[in-house]
Formats: sequence, structure tokens, C-alpha cells
Amino acid sequence: MKNLIFIGAPGAGKGTMAEKLSASTTIQHISTGAILREEISNETELGKAVKQFLEEGALVPDETVANIVAGKLASDEIQKNGFILDGFPRTENQAVILDGLLKESGVELDAIVLFDLAEDVLMQRLTGRRVCKECGSTLHHMLFNPPKTEGVCDKCGGELYQRPDDNAETAADRLDVYKEQTLPVIEFYKNSGKLVTIDAAPSQNEVFAKLQETVNS
Ligand code: AMP
Repeated sequence: MKNLIFIGAPGAGKGTMAEKLSASTTIQHISTGAILREEISNETELGKAVKQFLEEGALVPDETVANIVAGKLASDEIQKNGFILDGFPRTENQAVILDGLLKESGVELDAIVLFDLAEDVLMQRLTGRRVCKECGSTLHHMLFNPPKTEGVCDKCGGELYQRPDDNAETAADRLDVYKEQTLPVIEFYKNSGKLVTIDAAPSQNEVFAKLQETVNS
């Protein structure tokens, strides 16, 4: 399997799993959230246009993210190596747009992997996680995977920070947005025969082992 969608509530660990899977294969990781954060930090026109949505935990317009994804899917490297779409589609309309994009390029989805986690654990995961300013790694967590040196990324030595939208209030808003706008995406894929649910509660290594089993099956 090489063309994958990772879906799940914020904090379910889909970004972490995408990062681990792409590091151990040639499959390319496409995180719409990470791309948008980079645009914001580079103060591009796109970054300026989407900044407020991210700060508030709201979704940016479908067309904006769909354009980003269309650009990525058109790349030869991605078509050859496969992709993990992490954080897209997040609305039913985005799922419909993606369907069209894949048909146009003759690419088949292999699986939609749903990372399933209870809401109270999601909040704990979101508020404790730390991201690296340098390499963008999301592997660190203050409780579950603290860095060896406080504030320093184990992978590259870069500075760790808390995403502004991981504060308790915005995180709760993002979970509401997920329930209202992204749960219908799961319904959309339910009858495709390609939806695989993975329990995201166990440790990173256990969840990753399950993911590898799925991808290699
Ligand atoms: P993430 O890193 O996936 O949690 O995304 C962070 C933020 O980026 C979200 O709260 C949204 O504001 C925005 N975002 C990322 N992906 C999408 C998407 N597919 N549709 C709309 N907004 C998105």
C-alpha cells in the first residue's frame, strides 16, 4: 500500500505516525497543517490569508487546501513513491474534490486509516505535545515522550515549542470542528471497503507496529 489518507481527531497521533512511516519508507508525507504553518512563518501571501483560521482552530477554506494538495499530487515524485495525506480531507467537500483530483491523475487510494482515540485522551495529548522549530518533528510530548534535554529536539537539536493552537481553549474548539466537519468524511469512505481503524490509545511503538501491519498487508 502506498497511497494513504490518515484521518483522526487532532491529537490522535496521525502526524506522528505519518512522520514515522515516511521516515521508514519512500512514501511522501503531505501534512496540510504543516504546509500552512510554514507559509505563516514565512509570511507569504497565503500565510497571511490563513493565519487567523489557524489561530482560532477553524478550518481554512476548502479551495485553499485543495489547491495545495492538487499541487503536491501533480508531482512525479509523489506519484511514483506514494503519499500519506495527513489532515486532508477534513470536510466532505474536500473528500469529493480529492476524488476528482485522483481520478484526473489516474491514482488509486489504497487505504483510509482512521486513528481512533477517546476525547479526554485527545485533550491530554494536544496540550502536552511539542513541535520542533527546525525539523517540524511532532514526536515529543511533555508526559508521554519528553525530550532528553528540556526544550530541545532529540532528532535535530532544534528548539521545541508549543503550537499556539494546542492551548486548552483552542484545542477544545478544534475537537468541536472535527466532530462537526470531519466525522462526515469517515461516513464518506465507509462503503469504500478501504477504511481501516487503528486504536490510537497504545504507545507510539505499538500503534506504529499496527500501522506497518496494515500497510504491508
Ligand atoms: P493540523 O496540523 O492538521 O492539526 O492543522 C492545523 C490547522 O491547519 C487546522 O486547525 C486548520 O486551521 C488548518 N488545516 C489543516 N488542514 C486543513 C484542511 N484539510 N482543511 C482546512 N483547514 C486545514
